[in-house]
Amino acid sequence: MKFLHFPIACIGLLASHAAVSQNVEYVKTIIDSLCAPAYHGRGYVDQGDVKAAKFIERQLDEIGTEQPVEMLGFTLGVNTFPGKMDVNVNGKALIPGADYIIDPKSSGCNGTYDVVNFKPKWAGDQKKMFDLTSTAAFKGQFVVFKENVDNADYQTLLSNIDKNPFKAAGYIIITDKKLTWSVSRSMIDCVILRVDANKVPKKIKSITAQVDQHFESKYQATNVMATLSGTSDSSMKSLVFTAHLDHLGHMGAATYIPGANDNASGSAMLLDLYQYYYTNRPERDVVFIWFGAEEAGLVGSRHFVENSPLPLSEIQFLINLDLMGDAKTGITVVNGKVYDDHFGKLSSINIEQGLLETVKARGPAANSDHHPFYEKGVPCFFIYTTGDYTHYHDIDDKPENLPMTNYGKVFKLIVEFAQFGI
Ligand SMILES: [Zn+2]
Repeated sequence: MKFLHFPIACIGLLASHAAVSQNVEYVKTIIDSLCAPAYHGRGYVDQGDVKAAKFIERQLDEIGTEQPVEMLGFTLGVNTFPGKMDVNVNGKALIPGADYIIDPKSSGCNGTYDVVNFKPKWAGDQKKMFDLTSTAAFKGQFVVFKENVDNADYQTLLSNIDKNPFKAAGYIIITDKKLTWSVSRSMIDCVILRVDANKVPKKIKSITAQVDQHFESKYQATNVMATLSGTSDSSMKSLVFTAHLDHLGHMGAATYIPGANDNASGSAMLLDLYQYYYTNRPERDVVFIWFGAEEAGLVGSRHFVENSPLPLSEIQFLINLDLMGDAKTGITVVNGKVYDDHFGKLSSINIEQGLLETVKARGPAANSDHHPFYEKGVPCFFIYTTGDYTHYHDIDDKPENLPMTNYGKVFKLIVEFAQFGI
């Protein structure tokens, strides 16, 4: 997306001449770029996450920096699907992401396999189960389960299927639920495919599959940190804004999960906030951190708090932004019930300024990168938007579907809160 280079430079120049409060067009351009094929869904195949981190570094340089942007590297083990992702059921090719997802812990496979349709009554029959597991009766085969079977023994077996009780080559789990993907830092010794019930025939007779899988044991990921110094020369504590830059990456070479809402939106908003504060300096220092490997289990933020170049005791307040793409009904604030004074101020600013329909408080939750800071005693909020948008960890979380409703109002609320609320 080289053509983006010039327009962004222009916007950067505009920002330095006018007090632009927010710039939703700039934010949309950044979201488009971060979701483009060049960044591979900001995962671990073709170093999509690292390329996205370098893209963010370039945007910061375009806006202007007073000290070098810091690239803070760390390593993790992660399971990847970099190549073939071909699955045929009864001779018909299934579409990855649309018809099925692979369990992120899965191993690879290549062949044509016999299929066993697992009967629910077997699950409650101890002798049958002993025979099937002790003799590895399904070795080298694919075993088919249906997720919506009303049978407690069957459901218990299904919830432990990643332990591969039958020493099978793989499992097909037919599901009525939305296909929601994720990332795994470990791997198992079989393939698990979750297949949309509407996309396969009632009876599965044969499966031919080639899945290329690679476990990266020492993947080098990175956090990105940029600091703007405040106007006060006293030792005021810093304001910190964070967002995760990574997403889920590739499910096979031909398919990636773009992550427009999660979290190209928050990453882009962080750049917009950086642009705003670059020309509108508050008294205290403002620190911006884009984390890697959030989707792999808050790995980047956990690494940061253990090795912070910024003493955690010097953080006045931290605001983490994730899923900023549709504030039609407003925002929810994780830790709003913990820091109730802060939440009260946020809420009253919202009412006084007539901004969002709802600003809702939640208790603590380990659901994004604020949490490792919270565990270390750093006062923090995690803000996410709420509206009609339902695409999450799937192939449809893409820029053309993301409405960015009420973006300007959320931006204004956050800036006003940072000025008057902390
Ligand atoms: Zn996220």
